[in-house]
Amino acid sequence: MQLQDKVIIVTGGGQGLGRAMAEYLAAKGVKLALVDLDQEKLDAAVAACESAGTQARAYLCNVANEEQVAHMVAQVAADFGAINGLINNAGILRDGLTIRVKDGEMTKMSLANWQAVIDVNLTGVFLCTREVAAKMIELKNQGAIVNISSISRAGNMGQANYSAAKAGVAADTVVWAKELARYGIRVAGVAPGFIETEMTLSMKPEALAKTTAFIPLQRMGKPEEIAHSVAYIFENDYFTGRILELDGGLRL
Ligand code: NAP
Repeated sequence: MQLQDKVIIVTGGGQGLGRAMAEYLAAKGVKLALVDLDQEKLDAAVAACESAGTQARAYLCNVANEEQVAHMVAQVAADFGAINGLINNAGILRDGLTIRVKDGEMTKMSLANWQAVIDVNLTGVFLCTREVAAKMIELKNQGAIVNISSISRAGNMGQANYSAAKAGVAADTVVWAKELARYGIRVAGVAPGFIETEMTLSMKPEALAKTTAFIPLQRMGKPEEIAHSVAYIFENDYFTGRILELDGGLRL
């Protein structure tokens, strides 16, 4: 797909990987609909995209809320007149062991922490994909949906909630690629390893250093490197139903 003047929605577009992907695509002439929970962050991201000379708009929307997602997608279609792509990037962490015993005391991962991650990282991806695909079919727009999975989809200790959600996202990428191909919609994904964003920088420095030591390339990835892969997926019309692993060679 030629990216110039295409309309792409980026969830979690207010910071981190989402904002980096938005700015990368803006430089290629993509018109951006940025979705997030914080107006100030969104305004800054929109301004950054506009400074690349393209159109960008902010949409306050919780991706885990069915009504808000339906409303957001309808609004994007009304504002831009088309939708050619979606990046399902919004995500949260609520890490913790399922069972932890320390000094004779047992703690458990709360159902709230399990459910919060499943709601945003898995149900949010389902809702956005469903609504965007429906609108694209209605408008007879073709394009692609890119899901951000994670290296943790393989099963990472302390991330039962997050690993389950990211594995689900990877599995449904294959499902949706099969289901939506007939409408000219490709669906693929990227599974990043450890990338320098607010999310990873909030990890404890000791944990971060320990993790980096295991990465064959001996460094964390840069948000622009993920953005580069996402742009590749949009541009390559034969890429669908697969996940690109971008992790510096790290295996969990
Ligand atoms: P980040 O810096 O925390 O950014 C995530 C963005 O999503 C934030 O702006 C956040 O808003 C927004 N968001 C959270 N819940 C939302 C919701 N319900 N509706 C709409 N927006 C919501 O994270 P990141 O590191 O850029 O990660 C982006 C994606 O990459 C995530 O799916 C993450 O799992 C995945 N990933 C990241 C890494 C990494 O190393 N960074 C590795 C593998 C996969 P608030 O801050 O206002 O909550």
